[in-house]
Formats: sequence, C-alpha cells, structure tokens
Amino acid sequence: MPIAEMECRQIVVIGAGPAGAIAAALLKRQGHDVLIIERQQFPRFSIGESLLSHCLDFVEEAGMLDAVQAAGFQLKNGAAFAWGERYSEFDFGDTFSDGKPSTFQVQRAQFDKVLADDAERQGVEIRYQEEVTAVDFDAPQPVLRVRRMDSSEYSVQAQFVLDASGYGRVLPRLLDLEAPSDFPIRQAVFTHIEDRIDHPGFDRQKILITIHPDMRDVWFWSIPFSNGRTSIGVVASAERFKDKPQNLDACLQAFIDETPSLKNVLQNAVWDIPARTIGGYSANVKTLHGKGFALLGNAAEFLDPVFSSGVTIAMRSASMAAAILHRQLQGERVDWESEFATPLKRGVDTFRAYVEGWYDSSFQDVIFYPGSTPDIRRMISSILAGYAWDQRNPFVAEPKRRLRMLAEICASQTS
Ligand code: FAD
Repeated sequence: MPIAEMECRQIVVIGAGPAGAIAAALLKRQGHDVLIIERQQFPRFSIGESLLSHCLDFVEEAGMLDAVQAAGFQLKNGAAFAWGERYSEFDFGDTFSDGKPSTFQVQRAQFDKVLADDAERQGVEIRYQEEVTAVDFDAPQPVLRVRRMDSSEYSVQAQFVLDASGYGRVLPRLLDLEAPSDFPIRQAVFTHIEDRIDHPGFDRQKILITIHPDMRDVWFWSIPFSNGRTSIGVVASAERFKDKPQNLDACLQAFIDETPSLKNVLQNAVWDIPARTIGGYSANVKTLHGKGFALLGNAAEFLDPVFSSGVTIAMRSASMAAAILHRQLQGERVDWESEFATPLKRGVDTFRAYVEGWYDSSFQDVIFYPGSTPDIRRMISSILAGYAWDQRNPFVAEPKRRLRMLAEICASQTS
C-alpha cells in the first residue's frame, strides 16, 4: 500500500453503529486513543429497532444510559406473539436472570446518533463520510486505507483494529474471512407507518411478532415508537415472495391482508413512507479475531431478526473485546479465542437454537403452550430479554435438549 499520508493511532474502529460506539467509548474510558472511521453521515437509517434489556447493561457500562433515557424513546417491557386466535406475551420484568426490567423501541437513526454523539462527548474522535477501502495486516502493525468524500485518500496505522462495520463486513471481505451462514436466505420488507392503532389488546410497550395464519415460517414485526408511528415488516424465505407483487408496498400489504389479526390492528394506519427491503442478511465468518484485529457485531455473524438479538450481540461483543484489548494494551498476555470468541459464541449459539426452533415451529409451540409453568416462562423470558449468556438458566445451558423436551410435552398435551 503506497503511503502518501500516514497517521499513527492506537485503536481504529471501523463503523460508528452500536458495536463501534460502545467499544470506542469503553476503550476511551480506559484512557486509550480511539479513532472511528464511519462511511456515512449520522443520522442515517438502520434496521434493528427493538432492543433487548441486556443491551442496556452495555449502554450503562459505556456511560451512555442517561443520554439514551433522555432521548424519549418508547419504553419496551416485553415481547408479544400472535398466531390466529393464539396470543402469548413475555414480561421482561419477570425473568429468571436478574436483568433490567425494560428497554426501548428506537428509531435507529436517532438511537445510533445518541450513542455516537456520546462517544464523541467522552473524547472519541469520529470521522464521518470516510470509508475504509483497503487494509494491510502483513505490515508490523495494521494499516488501513481511508477514502474521504472528495475521493482523496490517506492511511492510518493502528496498534489494533476493531471491525464494527456491520453489513459492510469490511475485514471479512478484505481478508477472505467470510463463511456461509447455516440459515436459508430470507428477505424482509418493511416500512414505518403512522399507526393510529386503537385496538384494545395492543400493547405499545411490547414488540408484537405475528405469525402468518397458514405459513408458520412467515412472520411480521410491529414495533411501536413513542411518536405515534410503528415499524412494520414481514420476513419470509425467497419462495414465499414468488406470488407477491414486485412493488414493495403492495407486497407488504398483500402479506398483511392474508393475516387478519394484524390487518385488524393496522386498519387505520396511514402508509406514508415507501417500503424498503433487505435480503440474505444472515452471515458468518471463519474467525472472530486475528493478529491486530477483532470483529464485532454484524461484521462477524448475523443470525436472524426474529428475537431482536442483533444489537445486543453487537454490544456484548464490543464490551468483551474492549475489556480484552485494554488488558492487551497494558502488556498482559491475552487469548482472544478462549476469552472472546468461545464465550461470545456460547450466547450466540443459544439464540441460534431458538431461531432454529422458531422456523421448525417447535419454539412457536412452546411460546403458545398454555400449560407452561411460571418458572419455565421466566426462563424463556430471560432469553427473550437477551440474557442468553446466563449459564445458570437451564434453557441457556442446554438450549437444544430443553427445547426438544418442552416441544415434546407441548405436542403430547395438544394432540
Ligand atoms: P451497524 O449498525 O450496521 O453499523 C455499522 C456501521 O459501519 C454503519 O454505520 C456503516 O455505515 C459503517 N460502515 C460500513 N462499512 C464501512 C466502511 N467501509 N468504512 C467505514 N464505515 C463503514 N437487531 C435488534 O437488536 N433488534 C431488531 O429488532 C432487529 N431487527 C432486524 C431486522 C432485520 C430485517 C435485520 C436484517 C436485522 C435486524 N436486527 C435487529 C439486527 C441489527 O440490524 C444489527 O444486528 C445491528 O445493527 C448491528 O450493529 P453493528 O454495530 O454491528 O452494525
């Protein structure tokens, strides 16, 4: 890489989304020099609006809880599920793990800006509208090539690089770390509406996950915000879209028209923003770390949107990586595999087991099973609130076996 302009920094973070902002702030709070390179100008749209309680633990750790609480986001205290006449809700205030009882439903443009602004307030330097385009990890210290808006370029040398570039997946692409996801390709079509919901059973403090009446692998999210608007989206595999209109608004409406309970909730809504789509978002990598770098959040692995785990995993990875990197920079010997990758993946694999159970319907059966004991509901609620790393919870420690056992009980009681 030709070095025209070379700057030397201690830590460079690629991307100022939730993973990048939290990691950068945590490292800055430990006294390190941190530069974030962010491709876009904030505020910018991002998908992923329903937060889990556990992610606020990291917001708090990074000293950003006051800023987030002051932003006026919609309080969220749980998750509700609907399938035809069936309805089941889980309360984040009644969980197995001792976690936060509530969290928020956020417009990500605003939320991500609150986090990034707070990281700046704490002394992190963020360069917006600059893009990392190339990397050299063969040099004694990593060197990143950065392109500015006016197409001029410069290089930054860093002692360590944290890739928090989300769907940009900068290091996985440039270092050939991409690995296929275990999940089939699915697509989401979504928009924001002025919801005008006056349905008596609708709880604005919960995400509502509605299952299509005939196709149990097709589901909708409804995430109400504090300003009278709601994020609404449908998720389905590619083949489910084949007989739907090409136009995204018509496509989303067609799925909703087939789903009477949701159609009823949204009957007065004003559809004033064109729908968008994102597909093939599930992704994986061969490794989460290497010499001079670690991958955070979506730059590493993304499972599936159904349990709103993305931002929580992103922040958890940021918190873990920041703690290990701090120790490394202090001269301590650290083992990124056993201290970062393995424990992080343990919780991700817990979510994975429930995502698989969602799409093979076994977890849906458990969710709607009326005979679950309060203890079991508390353990499930903990996972839905994001506490997927709490090994004291039997449904975390042995997710597949527990889910299989419960699904068998549900099937035998309902057949
Ligand atoms: P991001 O938030 O994507 O941030 C990455 C940043 O890096 C961006 O700002 C980008 O501009 C920047 N960047 C990229 N490339 C470069 C580059 N070359 N140079 C510099 N900067 C760069 N999660 C939830 O928690 N709740 C939900 O309800 C939810 N719903 C979802 C619904 C769908 C349909 C999908 C697909 C995902 C959903 N997610 C949800 C997941 C969520 O979107 C992500 O997990 C989360 O945004 C990841 O955060 P991040 O910080 O890793 O990356």
